[in-house]
Amino acid sequence: MKYNSLNYNSSTVGFLKAVRKGLAPDRGLYFPETIPLLSQNFIENIPNLSNHELAFNAIQPFIGNDIPKERLKSIIEDTLNFDFPIIPITNSIASLELFCGPTLAFKDVGARFMARCLAYAHEVKEKQNLTILVATSGDTGGAVADGFFKVEGIDVVILYPKGKVSEVQEKQLTTLGENITALEVNGTFDDCQNMVKSAFIDPEITQNIELTSANSINIARWLAQMFYYFIAYKNRPNPHKDLIISVPSGNFGNLCAGLVAFKMGLPIKHFIASTNINNTVPNYLSSGSYEPKKSVSTISNAMDVEDPSNFIRIQKLFNNDFHKMKKVITGYAYTDPQTRKAMKEIYSESKYIPDPHGAVSYLGLKGYLDQLGDETTQGIFFETAHPVKFASTVENTLKIKLDPPKQIEKILNKTKLSIPINDYKSLKNFFLDR
Ligand SMILES: *Cc1c(COP(=O)(O)O)cnc(C)c1O
Repeated sequence: MKYNSLNYNSSTVGFLKAVRKGLAPDRGLYFPETIPLLSQNFIENIPNLSNHELAFNAIQPFIGNDIPKERLKSIIEDTLNFDFPIIPITNSIASLELFCGPTLAFKDVGARFMARCLAYAHEVKEKQNLTILVATSGDTGGAVADGFFKVEGIDVVILYPKGKVSEVQEKQLTTLGENITALEVNGTFDDCQNMVKSAFIDPEITQNIELTSANSINIARWLAQMFYYFIAYKNRPNPHKDLIISVPSGNFGNLCAGLVAFKMGLPIKHFIASTNINNTVPNYLSSGSYEPKKSVSTISNAMDVEDPSNFIRIQKLFNNDFHKMKKVITGYAYTDPQTRKAMKEIYSESKYIPDPHGAVSYLGLKGYLDQLGDETTQGIFFETAHPVKFASTVENTLKIKLDPPKQIEKILNKTKLSIPINDYKSLKNFFLDR
């Protein structure tokens, strides 16, 4: 498979090159030249395949000869080494829990897959050390830190907004050490993201250090998220009903990966783009005009994004046709009080404990199903973070005490190690002094 830049001013590259570079030289996002189609045989056989077999078949055409098949199989086995439970909430609504990985965030899958692809590239051809530079609004940092921890030939530098990530999230990205460095930025997530963008085009930095991203801009992180949709389809509670999936969205990498699966032919009837009040995409889907506003802090802070980086890929998947996009995706946005109310409702009606992102996802699904008003559909909402990652919000809202799972217990009393950063100049000095 070859990848084009969506700015159409760079040459096409193969999978591993695109993973290593992150963004194309013309600053465009990479996008596959074609979307392969699933065979009817394969789709009918999905219930009989393991998660590993599904994932291998889904992603192999996007990689082609860049990674030998046997190696790709073992990368997938290593990546998907935990469960993806589906928990029924009502007759027509179920939660797909994507948070059972090592950092309790759905981003573990993309980060683990990307790290293992880069480890293979380092082994066989790329000898120079690579620095992963990433901005996080919460969960990316932890998942990337864990996914790349001690990976040969790779250093990781993570920027996060001071005071704007949860305690658990902060511990996950500041306590590993070794090849992982955390920079604590006096500013917002968008400030972090802007600094990362500036560093990538700063020749004084890039002449000495090979930088790449590990945000969902990177095709390995982005495409691996496709696996969730195959798993959702395989394990959906009512196989005779049409499937609708709601995705809690920030940078829209996850939803966009689902849309790739849809274009390949995976039978998903409709997608819900669920957001908090950072509602650029739901607004676009109802008005047709794309107008990013400055991001606002919410209790579902992993989705506090003003200008989602993957939106351009979604447009490309629909050939920039607004009406085609609208047929497949509906957007809903919710305030924090609505999110808390939903958390209470879910908990009191079914004893299920959602995190704030899952609650937004549930609300979008419920909003759509209520409007649809029929019984012929099965809805699955993605639950993207373990509630303990947002413990104070969940405990205050539901008046309960959460037991920390073992992944968390290990890190809570470790010491935070971070470097304070006030502006782009201090980030630049950090790199030049290394
Ligand atoms: C990153 C994240 C999201 C948003 O995912 P995108 O792919 O950026 O849309 C949602 N929920 C949680 C918990 C996250 O960490």
